[in-house]
Amino acid sequence: MNNLKNIDIRLIKKYDRPGPRYTSYPPAPAFNSAFTAEDFLQSLKDNNVPGQAAEMSLYFHIPFCDTLCYFCGCNMLITHSRERIAEYLVYLKREMELSSPYFNRNRMIGQLHWGGGTPSYLTPEEISMLASSIKEHFTFSPEVEAGVEIDPRGLTFAHMQAFRESGFNRLSMGVQDFEPKVQEAVNRVQPEEITRDAVEWSRKLGFKSINLDMIYGLPYQTLESFEKSLRKIIDISPERIAVFNFAHVPWLKSHQKLIDKNTLPPPEMKLEILKMTIELLTSSGYVYIGMDHFAKPDDELAISQREKTLYRNFQGYSTHSGADLYAFGNSAISQFNHVYAQNYKSLKDYYKAVDEGRFPTVLGYRMTQDDIIRQHVIMRLMCDMELDKREVEKKFELDFDKYFADAFPKLEEFVHDDLLDLTEDKIVVKNTGMLVIRNIAMAFDAYLEKMIREKPIFSRTV
Ligand code: SF4
Repeated sequence: MNNLKNIDIRLIKKYDRPGPRYTSYPPAPAFNSAFTAEDFLQSLKDNNVPGQAAEMSLYFHIPFCDTLCYFCGCNMLITHSRERIAEYLVYLKREMELSSPYFNRNRMIGQLHWGGGTPSYLTPEEISMLASSIKEHFTFSPEVEAGVEIDPRGLTFAHMQAFRESGFNRLSMGVQDFEPKVQEAVNRVQPEEITRDAVEWSRKLGFKSINLDMIYGLPYQTLESFEKSLRKIIDISPERIAVFNFAHVPWLKSHQKLIDKNTLPPPEMKLEILKMTIELLTSSGYVYIGMDHFAKPDDELAISQREKTLYRNFQGYSTHSGADLYAFGNSAISQFNHVYAQNYKSLKDYYKAVDEGRFPTVLGYRMTQDDIIRQHVIMRLMCDMELDKREVEKKFELDFDKYFADAFPKLEEFVHDDLLDLTEDKIVVKNTGMLVIRNIAMAFDAYLEKMIREKPIFSRTV
């Protein structure tokens, strides 16, 4: 779906309400402590029976950062102690040692991701060492997609070389906004030259796909100022661009209180920025994938969407449809064999579990058959922007219209607003409907009402 023009932004505003981002279904608030480290171990064994050869994805969480960005929504820790970072890396290795005896070594790693925090806050030596110990435990596919999140502040060519020599071929970098006034207000001063240098280094080193993150809704942003920043991004020409809506949730992230709410652009301006962003990027050759993501038509993300093999996991959109995801580090979430398992968030608890030789699982969830069906429906809608009802019926042996009888009344409003088509065989999201895809997916969510009633934790959908 390209070249989205003349978006009716007032119509979109109508659908602005709290809702999950569906990086998992059920959403993370459904995870609970009834799922234990023993359950994790049993699931790990069940998922690695002899003959199991399916590809896997690995995620490593590096929580440390040098300075606090006031908008941050990640699980991170600010530290200047190199000893603290070195200690964490030892625990990451020990966590791998705990689980690696259970993995079938013939299973290839098709996807690797280091997120954070700031993985590039590691020294080049630490990057090489961690990468080598991962390779000791797992077998990598020659075509592995290995991505890392980097911060150009403090980055050197030696860091990039260490990543590249360790096999990384994709990277994602936060920019957020180029305007100095905005950068100062969020405590992330990142001169344009260092962003451009990092991109140039990665191109020189042969990184295949570069993603740049932007955020709208930050202090002092205006329609004009954000357009100026976006045009610079287009000039840099990354393969992927993500433009996130800033969620100001100081009751959940207390450091966001450091942002003066009077400096934030009003909701109407944010909608204008969203409209401009989509229109500018799609008219500049990027494909709107959905949910804040844009990609060049020849990037794997856009190809995958065309081929209907796109997938969503905790890193957002992913090209490796359905691969089992094993995650390491504090707060990391694994997803395989219809279970989710999250590690302790606090380093103290995470270290204690590893010291005691236990898996550091604190929360988890085992999906029911209804969860599996709904997850498939939500996933296909969010990735393909359409759903083949007959395919769902065949896959799960059910009558779609009967099974989802309660969802159809909720979809009527979208049909009335010309955002959705309901045919005999399909549910098809129309162009502008892509902007409210979370809302459309919410019609199939069996947990939503209860979760919203109990805890106001979701960001707004627009
Ligand atoms: S560098 Fe990233 S993870 Fe660290 S504080 Fe800033 S936004 Fe958060």
